[in-house]
Amino acid sequence: MTDISTADLSVVRTSPLAGFTGVTWEPGEPGYDEVRHVFNGMVDRRPALIARCTSADDVSAAVRHAVAVGLPVSVYGGGHSVTGVAVVDGGLCIDLRGMKSLDVDPGNRTVRAGAGLTWGELDAACQEHGLAVTGGRVSSTGVAGLALGSGSGWLERAFGFTCDNLLSAEVVTAEGRQVTASPTSNPDLFWGLRGGGGNFGIVTEFVLRLHPVGPIVLGGLLMYPAQQAQAVTRAWRDLMLAAPDALGTGLAFITAPPADFVPEPVRGLPVIGVIVCWSGPVEDGRAALAPLTDALPPAIDMVQPMPYVAVQQLIDAGNPPGMRNYWSGDFFEGLPDEAIDTFIAKATAPVSPLTSIILTPGRGAIARVPEDATAFGTRDAAFQAHYLGMWADPADDERNIAAIRSLATDMKPWTTGTAYLNFLGDEGQQRIADSFGAEKYARLRELKQTWDPTNLFRHNQNIPPAD
Ligand SMILES: Cc1cc2nc3c(=O)[nH]c(=O)nc-3n(C[C@H](O)[C@H](O)[C@H](O)COP(=O)(O)OP(=O)(O)OC[C@H]3O[C@@H](n4cnc5c(N)ncnc54)[C@H](O)[C@@H]3O)c2cc1C
Repeated sequence: MTDISTADLSVVRTSPLAGFTGVTWEPGEPGYDEVRHVFNGMVDRRPALIARCTSADDVSAAVRHAVAVGLPVSVYGGGHSVTGVAVVDGGLCIDLRGMKSLDVDPGNRTVRAGAGLTWGELDAACQEHGLAVTGGRVSSTGVAGLALGSGSGWLERAFGFTCDNLLSAEVVTAEGRQVTASPTSNPDLFWGLRGGGGNFGIVTEFVLRLHPVGPIVLGGLLMYPAQQAQAVTRAWRDLMLAAPDALGTGLAFITAPPADFVPEPVRGLPVIGVIVCWSGPVEDGRAALAPLTDALPPAIDMVQPMPYVAVQQLIDAGNPPGMRNYWSGDFFEGLPDEAIDTFIAKATAPVSPLTSIILTPGRGAIARVPEDATAFGTRDAAFQAHYLGMWADPADDERNIAAIRSLATDMKPWTTGTAYLNFLGDEGQQRIADSFGAEKYARLRELKQTWDPTNLFRHNQNIPPAD
């Protein structure tokens, strides 16, 4: 995917939208093909018009135009949705990448963030003040889509999901009106924005609570050979069930990259990485990991004091844009030994070397937020699995998709039955409903009926309006 900041905007003609001050692209115009790209290389959609907004007024103008001429709408935050819903064939793509305002208030520990920011941009600005909020694990991911889908990251056990730190949001409604959503202003909308995705309006600005983190944390990677999968996964499970909230980890089933730090005989082979982000006092981090590392000394230990922003980029290289992707995700109440044995049988034998299958721990601050406080559906799960199938060749589509589905199916007996929308591909309406549970889904459908009765915002993990 071309970095759109390098796209030649100078040749773009002026906007056909009344009152719009941003730039637009139509098919065939210079820059159009760069701008319509999304993270998932399987997605090749051609909007009739792409409108790069620079303000909430631009977003209102774009929404009103779409309604007036009857164009389907998509919203482009960071373009990382694996279903590629940021772009829509023949419709209006409301592109927020021109909205990158950033205002950190170190005194109040808050940040006011434009909806077009990436996590790399937000993290860098907040870290200048030694502050952070739970954010995406790959720095090119959009703040907006991730936060609206709840937002899982290395800091979640310490500070909750991104959406648990949302203080208020500026929103353009399906009529083009501009409203504030907060605990005191449109609280119903505020509830729905925290986990309900982009269903209820277009957020133009987020105000997020920040926490002291770093700038140096203990982070990095431990690596084990795949032959130790059973012992490592059990020890990691036991570690995380008892770990302090400041310990964020991911157990990543990956293929060892051809990098200098990897011993030659292991390169290209399946390995297990433990990704570490300890956000407590750096000197205490090793002790927090000791139950795992003392019992099972890693083959490679690259955990060390490092900038938090570097931890936030640890898996960037393994997630290049433009590859073909099929993802799914599940929550687990626990991971008994039988579940682990089932999991590692396929997770240690990936079809593609780009695939990563990642287990992350839950609970901590996530579980301390009352279940009914936000739209997000599952707060008490002990673990999550992110099944991230990634490959390069279209000829391998079927094999890779089948492999991810097969592993996810094998693990069904241990799942909570809910799903994590941020990691879900196209798995049908029932799966979306299941991710919230019947009661919340019904409440979300009522909310949709209130805020978007015509389902203008439907190119997303869609919640249809109540009948
Ligand atoms: C490499 C990679 C790593 C990831 N890592 C994580 C992770 O660590 N944690 C996690 O929780 N998720 C993660 N995700 C999933 C990610 O959070 C979701 O795909 C999210 O939707 C991406 O947001 P975006 O703005 O980049 O995407 P987009 O594709 O632009 O948007 C996704 C959805 O959000 C809607 N949307 C976007 N912006 C707005 C807005 N301002 N107002 C209203 N609706 C909007 C869009 O319409 C669309 O439906 C990752 C995805 C990728 C590809």
